[in-house]
Amino acid sequence: MLKTQAYAAPAAGKPLAPFTFEHREPGPHDVLIDILYCGVCHSDIHQARDEWGGSIFPMVPGHEIIGRVKQVGQHVTKLKVGDMAGVGCMVDSCRDCQPCRQDLEMFCEKGMALTYNGTQMDRKTPTYGGYSTQVVVSERFTLKVPEGLDPAAAAPLLCAGITTYSPLRQWNCKKGDRVGVVGLGGLGHMAVKLAASMGAEVTVLSTSRSKEADARRLGARGFEVTKEEGTFKKLAGKFDLIIDTISAPHDYNQYLSMLRPLGAMVLVGVPPQPTPVAAFALINGNKRLAGSSIGGIAETQEMLDYCAKHQIVSDVEVIPIQKINEAYERMLKSDVRYRFVIDMASLKDAAAR
Ligand code: NAP
Ligand code: ZN
Ligand code: ZN
Repeated sequence: MLKTQAYAAPAAGKPLAPFTFEHREPGPHDVLIDILYCGVCHSDIHQARDEWGGSIFPMVPGHEIIGRVKQVGQHVTKLKVGDMAGVGCMVDSCRDCQPCRQDLEMFCEKGMALTYNGTQMDRKTPTYGGYSTQVVVSERFTLKVPEGLDPAAAAPLLCAGITTYSPLRQWNCKKGDRVGVVGLGGLGHMAVKLAASMGAEVTVLSTSRSKEADARRLGARGFEVTKEEGTFKKLAGKFDLIIDTISAPHDYNQYLSMLRPLGAMVLVGVPPQPTPVAAFALINGNKRLAGSSIGGIAETQEMLDYCAKHQIVSDVEVIPIQKINEAYERMLKSDVRYRFVIDMASLKDAAAR
């Protein structure tokens, strides 16, 4: 077994602290990755605080993992020692059901193996995520990270990137489309960059006036503050597509009013509580309200290659792991520009002392 240093939440809402666990020895199809960076997703906070229910503790969060391949099993062909590799939100699935065969492993009928806060497919062995020094993953669930992408800034692509790329593709985002991005955090800022790169005319809808200059630098043509009087009225019927990344409860009806007839609003943010939606908010205008969950492995690879081609990465604030609890507090205040990424050297150094 491979002894691994990490940071874990010992119980719901408790501060993260140093923790040690063991990974399996890499098998013939496995890749051992020496983790360099791991992004901090708001889903880490929701789960470490058990806001969605069913959290498993101790929990080592982290599903935006980038590192160097340290060892490969004898049957591994996708990666070799020294390659830059990534791991996102899942580490396995049954690989045989219809969704798995359609490259939609996140909808595996047996239930995917989440990178953390879950179990391996044996449904016994707990999974521990990327706030750690190394990970062992079947090559089927690894990603090749194109050289030329800065590894710290590319880490958030493994969740924030694919979670926004996938709905933009599903809803055929293209040149001239008017796209509203709601919430300018980790997911939101990737949605802006990606939609703009696809030729869309992007407007950011934010609660923070202070993010306007950044929004425009990231590629937005419009910026509106949803808390200000008259904003929803002014934008009524404007958007073809809205990507909603807000992590807290909010009134979907108001946001739906900004869609054109036949427009779609896609929820990617996961507020812990449900919100009522009025039938007329959808009926008037034949509007669609949809959701989108991360993306399959093949689409994640497509997104990474797309980002390499278009030179798209995340805007990151790199932190030592010792600052993780502070980073969570700042994210809860929407004070992140625009993704915290943990430099795992800070954990290795501390462990060596
Ligand atoms: P984040 O970096 O914290 O960004 C969330 C943004 O939402 C904030 O920056 C803020 O933007 C806005 N916001 C926060 N609280 C708000 C409130 N009370 N009212 C209005 N706006 C508010 O979070 P993230 O990592 O991007 O994640 C966003 C959500 O997506 C989380 O719920 C996460 O769990 C979920 N998620 C879903 C998937 C999926 O597969 N569907 C994958 C990853 C994450 P402004 O300052 O601009 O207002
Ligand atoms: Zn995530
Ligand atoms: Zn399956």
